[in-house]
Amino acid sequence: MSLLEIKKLNVSYSNHYALEDIDLKIDEGEYVCLVGENGSGKSTLVKTIVGLKKQDSGTINLNIELGKVSYLAQFNLKDLNFPATAKEIIMTGTQKHGKLPFYSKKDKEVYKRVIEQLHIEDLQNRRIGDLSGGQKQRVLIARALISEPELLILDEPTAGLDYNITQEFYKILKQLNKENKLTIIMATHDIEELANDKPRIVYLSKKVVYDGNYDGWKGYEK
Ligand code: ADP
Ligand code: MG
Repeated sequence: MSLLEIKKLNVSYSNHYALEDIDLKIDEGEYVCLVGENGSGKSTLVKTIVGLKKQDSGTINLNIELGKVSYLAQFNLKDLNFPATAKEIIMTGTQKHGKLPFYSKKDKEVYKRVIEQLHIEDLQNRRIGDLSGGQKQRVLIARALISEPELLILDEPTAGLDYNITQEFYKILKQLNKENKLTIIMATHDIEELANDKPRIVYLSKKVVYDGNYDGWKGYEK
């Protein structure tokens, strides 16, 4: 059974279709990149998968609990500027709703493991607004990982980051995919930066125009 199975999906805004007849199957452990021009429907697809946008027709079967899915929306890291510390922000990812004790021993253990894995121990008590773009993005990934998801969905997470920081960021994603067996779906423009990782490529232009391996995509593109 696939982790995610999408069939004949159509999604529109007012009278205009953003996605048409999307069929997509994603298995556990895959690393899938959604690529395509601006306006090709990448964000709409991930929003529909997580339930933020309603489809007109078609089905989305997610064969894990929604609590096992973490979603990092597309936004400008420069806007992330308020006086909470990295640790405070990461802990909000445990998604507890007024239960006591608010943070369990397990949450604290996962927190420790996650900040070690992302090499952000030194940032814990810094204010998020004072961090660089790359550091902010690691804090947000830590926040997404603290609930121990099985599926991580990212929408253009490296927008605005420079080449080296982007490379480091992708190294971490690759490690999470390989070592933690995390399934990853990421909307991105960074095809060249992913040359080492060779994710599965799903190229969108309202419809799925290409779905296959990275090397096949490189041939197809030319
Ligand atoms: P991408 O993430 O690939 O840039 P989007 O999913 O954001 O693409 O957009 C797909 C299409 O849907 C575009 O034509 C865009 O203008 C339109 N669209 C996206 N969000 C909205 C919205 N909130 N209201 C109206 N149209 C939208
Ligand atoms: Mg988008």
